[in-house]
Amino acid sequence: MASQNILVTGAAGFLGSHLVDRLLAEGNTVLGVDNLSTGSLANIAHLEREPRFGFEEHDICTPFDFGRVDYVFNFASPASPIDYMRLGVETLDVGSTGTKNSLEVARKYGAGYLHASTSECYGDPEVHPQVETYWGNVNPIGPRSVYDEAKRFSEALVTAYFRYYGVNTHLVRIFNTYGPRLQPNDGRVISNLMMQALRGESLTVYGDGSQTRSFCYVSDLIDGIYKLSKSPKHGPVNIGNPTEWTILECAKEIQSLIGSDCEILFKPLPQDDPKQRRPDITRARELLGWEPKVSLSEGLAKSLDYFKECVAAEELAKSG
Ligand code: NAD
Ligand code: UDP
Repeated sequence: MASQNILVTGAAGFLGSHLVDRLLAEGNTVLGVDNLSTGSLANIAHLEREPRFGFEEHDICTPFDFGRVDYVFNFASPASPIDYMRLGVETLDVGSTGTKNSLEVARKYGAGYLHASTSECYGDPEVHPQVETYWGNVNPIGPRSVYDEAKRFSEALVTAYFRYYGVNTHLVRIFNTYGPRLQPNDGRVISNLMMQALRGESLTVYGDGSQTRSFCYVSDLIDGIYKLSKSPKHGPVNIGNPTEWTILECAKEIQSLIGSDCEILFKPLPQDDPKQRRPDITRARELLGWEPKVSLSEGLAKSLDYFKECVAAEELAKSG
């Protein structure tokens, strides 16, 4: 396919920066937009001399138009519980006004559009594994609601732009993803446990560790998202790794990878923490011929050097 002009919001974040790399590798020209609230220029520093990449520091809650585009990927939003609870109103704002502003860009230029939605739309699910037809179980006023409801509103908005304005929209429901460039201090379980194990600290497991998550390595996720952007499907598609782990098993996997004899420290389970999560990926398999290839042990090993660099950077900052 001919190369395209593509706009990526949230481009300085974990997933956005990996997506930019893939889009450039496919021969496209990419403009990244980010307000750097939770992302970092370090994630796109390697693209400084790339002539097909440009960057605008901008909050997408303010309307924007940086010129003609063929496709918009909307990845801007705080994503980890620590970030979205710290930035509660901003998270609701970017999920509503920010999503609308980015949809307006796609509408203006007749561009395609893909929105990064989330497994959090299913809340604390009563259907397991989660299928796209399940409507979810979300507490609208709980501490996670600023994120969950923002994402559910985004899905309604994206669907309305398809239904009323004919914008060629796509919705991906992303399940827990990890890999290099995951922010080391954003409180997510993989970053917390990897950093703790490498620092020789106790590994914090919330509750009794019996709650489950299904962890997808970043290259698998980006591949699924890229394929979805080329598909004719407008409704939501789960992209994630269907192998389910308890959090305690995940902590033990990290212990054995790093060979640390750190103890496990049990801490209180946060309010409304989903008890189980696993994607049903039948739709992605059938529609995109996609399924993940990287196991948790392989993905953690691939992420090890990155987390070692993060710990080394921390030590340097402390000593300096
Ligand atoms: P991240 O925090 O690393 O990246 C988000 C990026 O969006 C950051 O660079 C941040 O600065 C930027 N941003 C936030 N608000 C903005 C605004 N108003 N204007 C412009 N930029 C703004 O998080 P991530 O893990 O890369 O997540 C990216 C997207 O994927 C998010 O929409 C998130 O909800 C979604 N998602 C991620 C996961 C996951 O496991 N990583 C799971 C489900 C959904
Ligand atoms: N968790 C944990 N220890 C940590 C961080 C998180 O046990 O240091 C748990 C958390 O309570 C949740 C799971 O790990 O049950 C995944 O948490 P994360 O914040 O990564 O993602 P989310 O809850 O949004 O899926």
